[in-house]
Amino acid sequence: MTDAAEPPRTHFIRQIVEADLASGKHDRIATRFPPEPNGYLHIGHAKSIVLNFGLAESFGGTCNLRFDDTNPLKENVEFVESIQADVRWLGFDWEDRLYFASDYFERLYGFAIELIDKGLAYVCDLNAEEMREHRGTLTEPGRDSPYRDRSVTENRDLFARMRAGEFPDGARTLRARIDMGSPNINLRDPVLYRIKHGVVHHQTGTAWCLYPTYDYTHPISDALEGITHSLCTLEFEDHRPLYDWCIDNVSVPCKPRQIEFSRLNLEYTVMSKRRLTDLVGESHVTGWDDPRMPTIAGLRRRGYTPAAIRDFCERIGITKSENLVEMAMLESAIREDLDASAPRRMAVLDPLKVVLVNYPEERTESLEAANHPKDEGLGTRTSPFSREILIDRSDFEEVPPKGFKRLVPGGEVRLRQAYVIRCDEVVKDDAGVIRELRAWVDLDTLGRNPEGRKVKGVIHWVSAEHGVPAEVRLYDRLFKVPTPGAGGADYRAEINPDSRRVLAGAVVEPSLRGVQPGERFQFEREGYFVADPDSTAERPVFNLTVGLRDTWGKSQS
Ligand code: ATP
Ligand code: MG
Repeated sequence: MTDAAEPPRTHFIRQIVEADLASGKHDRIATRFPPEPNGYLHIGHAKSIVLNFGLAESFGGTCNLRFDDTNPLKENVEFVESIQADVRWLGFDWEDRLYFASDYFERLYGFAIELIDKGLAYVCDLNAEEMREHRGTLTEPGRDSPYRDRSVTENRDLFARMRAGEFPDGARTLRARIDMGSPNINLRDPVLYRIKHGVVHHQTGTAWCLYPTYDYTHPISDALEGITHSLCTLEFEDHRPLYDWCIDNVSVPCKPRQIEFSRLNLEYTVMSKRRLTDLVGESHVTGWDDPRMPTIAGLRRRGYTPAAIRDFCERIGITKSENLVEMAMLESAIREDLDASAPRRMAVLDPLKVVLVNYPEERTESLEAANHPKDEGLGTRTSPFSREILIDRSDFEEVPPKGFKRLVPGGEVRLRQAYVIRCDEVVKDDAGVIRELRAWVDLDTLGRNPEGRKVKGVIHWVSAEHGVPAEVRLYDRLFKVPTPGAGGADYRAEINPDSRRVLAGAVVEPSLRGVQPGERFQFEREGYFVADPDSTAERPVFNLTVGLRDTWGKSQS
């Protein structure tokens, strides 16, 4: 595991940056994280955030947060705000460098006129379908648009009128004049501007009915911000010649270098924003912050820490090869963090009452227990112990399977941080369901072993009278298969129907009363849990963050 003292792992982009600094190509580096505000950030974005902000941090450079907001139909302010909150929560700071591509709309328009004047852009009247027909295929070259040789004067006039709103959506586009015969389809006179009427842009309102494309906006925005290394995912590799073309042909102050790396793909989840949007919109989950979602908001609600997410992003590394990361890797990052930092508590998820027949009725003891087995700095707390306690149903077996070390009729078990008890009687209702156990408590065994007997099992408990009723939500993978939607399958059909289980009758130790949302604990023998925002003063709600052991990933590999 990479701890804070360890230097970040090297990778090919880090090496490029080092070389550029060593050769004097740059004396400072500048990166950016450029989300489109059309959804919440997910764990894949975290990889890009950690890369961009992390590089700037380690080389004394800067990293901008820039919203790539050229598609107002799918974007909104909720997303703009959640993205900022999530980047901040991950522990990164863009200081005063918050930008919107829409800040540059006027300048981008000016650069488009520059391209027109240089004979490098033209207004095209082909509609979408005609344009597709002219584009050619991977094996056949495209054909020139009949509008390709319009004069500069005509192009200028038409482009101005496009901006003025004279033409309907789709009637005309502005296209780069590059090469319809290029083997790279991205260079076959790509569209630079589209007409979109009637949309209210979250930043520019109704000022524009003309919107620049991503491929045109991105390189110029990078250049205007003085970005030195523009890091993006592999699907943009074929767009790089267009990126360079834009920067080479307009008067921008610098030439950023685009470098591609592979996206994070994670097992048992989906990362495409369209699918995540559908999961929320079609109510397959409770929202963008559903604890099963791979979103930063979902992981936060699930109990993940920023440190664990950053650590995971460092561990997966940066390469150019596509791969699928095991969910177990993400889980082990949070497990390691919480193992070291989460206070221990006792919680009984599925309670079964045990009456300690020889324990005085009126008595309540206050038993002290360490909050952490290794870290004394986490202190201690006290738990009341009384005649009636609750244990987990699964910790008792009337007919125990082989090797069962917990409570059985006539057998002994230790109550964690308390006494040894022996089950003497099983009380059932008419239907044969066990209602309670009656047990004998050995009052000589607090903090020491019973004389002459070996007690192997240790179980957790909560005082029935003092315990706090709680709701516990257990989570499993959101999908049944490692790569949902692969091979043309409908990913919706692959949703795991048992991914969320609510235990409404749990009881937790009294020190958990009034717990604040976001507080994390290890429930002994159960797993790591976090208090959910749905908690109230009387009734805490906990989400399972991760189990104590890797029971899944191991059996898979
Ligand atoms: P869309 O699916 O809408 O195109 P996107 O996933 O590309 O969205 P953006 O908001 O455009 O999302 O992404 C912002 C930045 O995060 C981009 O630089 C993008 O390359 C990067 N990014 C997105 N998904 C991943 C991923 N899974 N792994 C690594 N980086 C990612
Ligand atoms: Mg994108």
